[in-house]
Amino acid sequence: MRSAVPASSLPFFSKNMPSFSLSDRSELLRETWIQKEGYPYAFDPTACAACGGACCTGESGYIWVRYDEMNAIADFLELDLEDFGRMYLRKVKHRYSLTEKEISQGDFACIFFDAQQKRCTIYPVRPRQCRTYPFWETFKSNEEEVRNECPGIV
Ligand code: SF4
Repeated sequence: MRSAVPASSLPFFSKNMPSFSLSDRSELLRETWIQKEGYPYAFDPTACAACGGACCTGESGYIWVRYDEMNAIADFLELDLEDFGRMYLRKVKHRYSLTEKEISQGDFACIFFDAQQKRCTIYPVRPRQCRTYPFWETFKSNEEEVRNECPGIV
């Protein structure tokens, strides 16, 4: 709701307040960027809102989960581990991955990606693989791939 009180009458407002130049603004924006040693790029997490889930969709792949992560997700979903495993995991050799769903021909999404709302439905307990994206070891020497995939790379 918009305030009926003019901004100039608010206690924090002063005509002498400094105005922000364009370079000040881009400096402020840059403060939200995440950088990690050894990576030739930074990540702007504000890009996620408009991205639509590029890191949760695309070609078929693996979303690896460790045992402690399975427990955390099962708890979050209020499922016992066995039911969670039956419903959402697939075994790949000696490891486990979250399952996927086909959202259009040849286009897959993680089973926990809400394709309508474009968001992760288990975000607080998403696996480490998701938490560490886009700073994966494989991208250190393959910047082009991550740039093509993630609009938050700066
Ligand atoms: S667990 Fe969440 S963040 Fe990870 S791939 Fe699935 S939907 Fe995306």
